[in-house]
Amino acid sequence: MIKTVKDVDLKGKRIIMRVDFNVPMKDGVVQDDTRIMASLPTIQYILDQKPRSLVLMSHLGDPSKDSKKAQEKAEKDGKPFDMDAYIAGKHRMKPVAEYLSKKLGKPVEFADSCFGQKAKVDSLPEGGILMLENTRFHKEETSKDEAQQEVLAKELATYGDIFVNDAFGTAHRAHASTATIAKFVPVKVAGFLMEKEVTYLEPMVTNPPKPMTAIIGGAKVSSKIAVLESLLKNASSLIIGGGMAYTFLKAQGHTIGKSLVEDDFITTAKNLLAAAAAKNVKIILPVDHLCAETFSADAKPVPVDGLDIPDNLMGMDVGPKTIALYKEIILASKSIVWNGPVGVFEFDAFAKGTEEVAHLVAEATEKGAVSVVGGGDSVAAVNKFNLASKMSHVSTGGGASLEFLEGKTLPGIAVLDQK
Ligand code: AMP
Repeated sequence: MIKTVKDVDLKGKRIIMRVDFNVPMKDGVVQDDTRIMASLPTIQYILDQKPRSLVLMSHLGDPSKDSKKAQEKAEKDGKPFDMDAYIAGKHRMKPVAEYLSKKLGKPVEFADSCFGQKAKVDSLPEGGILMLENTRFHKEETSKDEAQQEVLAKELATYGDIFVNDAFGTAHRAHASTATIAKFVPVKVAGFLMEKEVTYLEPMVTNPPKPMTAIIGGAKVSSKIAVLESLLKNASSLIIGGGMAYTFLKAQGHTIGKSLVEDDFITTAKNLLAAAAAKNVKIILPVDHLCAETFSADAKPVPVDGLDIPDNLMGMDVGPKTIALYKEIILASKSIVWNGPVGVFEFDAFAKGTEEVAHLVAEATEKGAVSVVGGGDSVAAVNKFNLASKMSHVSTGGGASLEFLEGKTLPGIAVLDQK
């Protein structure tokens, strides 16, 4: 088990903490503070232990990549583009420091670079907080060259005696501030957010309460095959929905009309179906559909009462018979992992299947099942249907939770001390 802030003495210590404050920004204003609030309990706990100082670091988008994309888009649209204003409004951490200061009711000082701040850290008042500029302003943060990454990691390490990592959302990245820093700090522990993520996600890939149901949806088999293979080890039932279901249906010899398909993954799909059969894992594919002629929000929904989809239609959501199957399986589960919507839930006419899944998982949770929702779009779905609070755990990391569920070791977690 990883050590947490509760396992070490923080009093009088200099803390360097990686948070995931990669919040959406517009013109220098925080648009959604979920990620800031998620780390507040850890920050508050650390401050209550009377440390010498607390230095916070995070990335906030990727200034070089994102600004290039924005510039290209502006050029394409024939609009003027002010690079400095764009970066100031989107990627500078100062407004986030000010936001945090308001939430804590305490000053949060700001440093406009991650380099050269040792004197500033040393001169902080007792228990003072300093927020560093966006780590990704420095090419060393994400450099593939280990020696170059170490240059920044070593510098950051001079700001703290204890490294606290609460940035689950970036734990799958081996960057200077998320993992490499740990080589140069003697004590490395998790914050409460990181601890909660690991506590809920780990059993799902090791020893979940049985029967366990994995609900995997979303657009593509290619991006979900690793998680399907990983969850197959412990699942009793695997619900495969969303756009990726049609590749599986095609692999079984059904007609899928104009539905989303990855023909080069038909063999992969067949292999997974065979592996599931060999392990006695029930695979639930859609048995009826809600289709459309075109992929658009105002497309007319056409029910298809059976497995095969006519040539002129594409599958956009699951039908009522499929939902009835889901109900039986989800409500009988003792643990549930959900990653990816089972239909195009962004379009109201095709959101019913995903909404029903969200309600069923909430109901199963109320009856005592452990439920974990991970991955950007299923999280967006439970939020859209106001059901996030009914789940045991809604992961704060899209890519990180997917990689965790794939059974991978996440670099930002692997570097933490064990107890
Ligand atoms: P992912 O990021 O892989 O979880 O994919 C999420 C996306 O899959 C969402 O934007 C959904 O609209 C999309 N999706 C779900 N069902 C379908 C479908 N039947 N056809 C096309 N896209 C779908």
